[in-house]
Amino acid sequence: MPLVPAPRRPLAVLGALALAGLPACSRDGDAPTRPPNVLLISIDTLRADHVGAYGYGRDTSPNLDALAADGVRFEEAVAESSWTLPTHATMFTGLGQSVHGVGYGRSRLDGSVTTLAETLSAAGYRTKGVWTGPFLHSFFGLDQGFDEYLGFVGETCYDQEAFDVDDESSREEIKETHDASHRTITSADVTDEALRYFGEVGEVGDAPFFLFLHYFDVHADYIPAEEFVAPFLADLPEATNEVEAKRNDLLARYDGEIRWTDHHVGRLLDGLAERGLADDTIVVVTSDHGEEFLEHGRYGHNATLYDEVLLVPLIVRPPDLADARRGAVVEATARHADLMPTILELADLEAPGPFTGSSLAAAIRGERTEPRAAVSRLRLGETYAWTAVRFHGKKLVRKELADGDDVAVFDLETDPAERTPLAGDDAVTLLERFSEQLEAIDAFEAGVRARLGLGEGGDVDLPPHLRRALEELGYLEG
Ligand SMILES: [Zn+2]
Repeated sequence: MPLVPAPRRPLAVLGALALAGLPACSRDGDAPTRPPNVLLISIDTLRADHVGAYGYGRDTSPNLDALAADGVRFEEAVAESSWTLPTHATMFTGLGQSVHGVGYGRSRLDGSVTTLAETLSAAGYRTKGVWTGPFLHSFFGLDQGFDEYLGFVGETCYDQEAFDVDDESSREEIKETHDASHRTITSADVTDEALRYFGEVGEVGDAPFFLFLHYFDVHADYIPAEEFVAPFLADLPEATNEVEAKRNDLLARYDGEIRWTDHHVGRLLDGLAERGLADDTIVVVTSDHGEEFLEHGRYGHNATLYDEVLLVPLIVRPPDLADARRGAVVEATARHADLMPTILELADLEAPGPFTGSSLAAAIRGERTEPRAAVSRLRLGETYAWTAVRFHGKKLVRKELADGDDVAVFDLETDPAERTPLAGDDAVTLLERFSEQLEAIDAFEAGVRARLGLGEGGDVDLPPHLRRALEELGYLEG
């Protein structure tokens, strides 16, 4: 089974304690303490290699870089998919797409799935979500467990009850909202709302909070405020043709949006510290997917599973992080499905499970961790499905398209841009190995689906050869 942390504080007991305003017991049994607050930040469409802490040459992210220097940074954090809905559903559930199914054949998260917000709420947390992109709408069921789930598009809050999936005009309204959200600037609103909330929770003081914030301005359209984009536009690389010139211009504007959003994340983290909450709050910053700038012939996301859309930043700052770990770079591969079990273990809370992900807490503490595989999936309609598997520096990209299947293996060490698929006997051997691994992962996810009673079942008990493969892939404890 996945690497689920040993049961810690029983949820029901903790919930009762927190609701009664009483502190829970600390790990060492000395001073009473309560679980830490949780601040989970998703910066939509932020690719890792445009963040300073990840080695980007432009000064896009001083505040994220400072957070990385104070916490730990995962060098290889892999998105579940290349679009907003399934990746957030995975962050919120610890489950891969083939299990929760959201954006992968199903439009809403099944009410029977236990979310991170529900788990924390049951443990006595106050829970709040602030979101700014249409796929985070409660329409898709991602609001489960939030006491308050507030959407912003500019100054207008969505009518949370107005949308109906079966209604044509509702669907039209969603499309209009979607388009409008790309043009609307919301980072300042998100931070202001969070700062107000920090004031409220500071006054109440007895229950910990879980605050989820979704920043959307890095997403197209790239229309940052002049002062944030000017330094990048003033420093455009030489272009030899129109295509290059357009790409350079878009990259500068994308970087300007990152700088703008980083500024508001900085205000947020300053506010957290000024309210005296930073020492009692787990901060997690990530993104749902990256963005393409012609690396494989197109702009945007939600079309491929190459690394420009899959590698995202992941920075974690637990309040009790050892000084020696501050600024550490974690090599263990991280996945969106790992976030929920990780946050629960860091908060010393019992994790409900089963998950397809597993806790990264040991990796954050600097303990040796086994190699881990990461699977990403993308399915659009009936005839467009991609699967990517990465393990030990190699990556399988499998495309099932209307005009046939296409499978390629890349060596990420020698070809990080994924330009030239491996060929010859090595490629054949790797393809066979990846096929077996994918078979094992599929069986594992089907088993999790069965245990949760979701969709078509699989075998809860896996045959020995699949168990061995999953142990090697870091999916099961050996
Ligand atoms: Zn997104």
